[in-house]
Amino acid sequence: MSDREITVKTAGFAYRVLIEENALAGLGKAMRLLFPSTKTLLVSDTKVYDLYGERILRSLAKEKWQATTALIRPGERSKTLNRASRLYDAALDAGLDRNSPLIALGGGVVGDLTGFAASTFMRGVPLVMVPTSLLAQVDSSIGGKVAVNHPRGKNLIGAIYAPRLVLIDPLVLETLSKRQFRAGLVEIIKYGIIVSNSFFYWLEENLDRLIYGDRLILTGAIAKSVQAKKKVVEKDEFEKNYRQVLNFGHTLGHALEAATDYRYYLHGEAVLIGMAAALKMAVRLSLLDSASGERIQALLNLIDQKKPPVHLTAEKVIGKLRQDKKRREREIMFVLPTAIGAGTVIPVNDQRLIREVVDLYLMCGAIS
Ligand code: NAD
Repeated sequence: MSDREITVKTAGFAYRVLIEENALAGLGKAMRLLFPSTKTLLVSDTKVYDLYGERILRSLAKEKWQATTALIRPGERSKTLNRASRLYDAALDAGLDRNSPLIALGGGVVGDLTGFAASTFMRGVPLVMVPTSLLAQVDSSIGGKVAVNHPRGKNLIGAIYAPRLVLIDPLVLETLSKRQFRAGLVEIIKYGIIVSNSFFYWLEENLDRLIYGDRLILTGAIAKSVQAKKKVVEKDEFEKNYRQVLNFGHTLGHALEAATDYRYYLHGEAVLIGMAAALKMAVRLSLLDSASGERIQALLNLIDQKKPPVHLTAEKVIGKLRQDKKRREREIMFVLPTAIGAGTVIPVNDQRLIREVVDLYLMCGAIS
């Protein structure tokens, strides 16, 4: 098995993640080998479908798949129960049965929504992920978290439902905006900092080339990220404990997204600030030595996503931190690095320290 073909084991079965340039062309065949069905529902957003839909349909037709298409508007607002319900309608209209796979062609929004529909339609039909954003290729398509949003919060309705196949074509990233690409890079370096020190050292050597889109390095970084996520979800598929380390940077990151009504930051941009905050806290609490802290901060600085500070008060940000799903009474849970490539989930009740990192953010729009 090559580096570009990774098998992820779940409680019930194992699935392959194929990472290859021009992988889209092989989708029909890869599915033919897996599913005893002729029908499939292709779900995408209109932007991604315009770019890659035809290529996918050609690949499916070559293997005699009868594909019906269901499109959503790009963006987070499409991740709703109402949209999922329309996917059920489309699947019923197309005559899908329990063996008919749903294909998610798109970023994390399409993946989460289609995955949610697949997990519930007829009590679960096969799911195929064809992630097209960097975030979806290195994070959301792997590990089985699927969800829709509720008016009271993001991802509140969902399940852990693993795909049967993930097909990653790094070439589709050429059409992704630079801003989205950089936001996806944040999830990549997250694995280096919190899961794998060898990946961290590799990133120190290669992040520059990765940022500037070197194709070989990009494919390598995607494969290493999938390996890192595999390592975590195979140990703790249902997020009982270890998987929570993947929320590194997410405590403050989520609070900033929520405090700005999800309009100012891309997820990765907010998480980058959250990672720098967690890093500072880890060093201050002596969980991480300062030399490692400086090394990690130097890597974060390379991404350089500084946005001007938004007009927020410390009270508002801290208020959102207190609403975090993972809080315990007055304590707020943070994932803090303990060494390069390792971290721990820990309650922090040092209110002065929390206030200090929030103030730093409010002054500069970033933490370093
Ligand atoms: P997204 O799906 O909204 O995609 C971002 C934008 O990029 C969209 O406009 C999309 O049309 C466009 N796009 C995607 N691929 C493209 C391509 N190849 N070329 C040109 N444009 C392209 O956002 P995202 O950042 O991919 O995903 C965010 C979502 O993922 C959130 O809903 C988040 O909750 C979810 N998420 C889920 C998990 C998980 O484990 N399930 C993990 C992280 C994030």
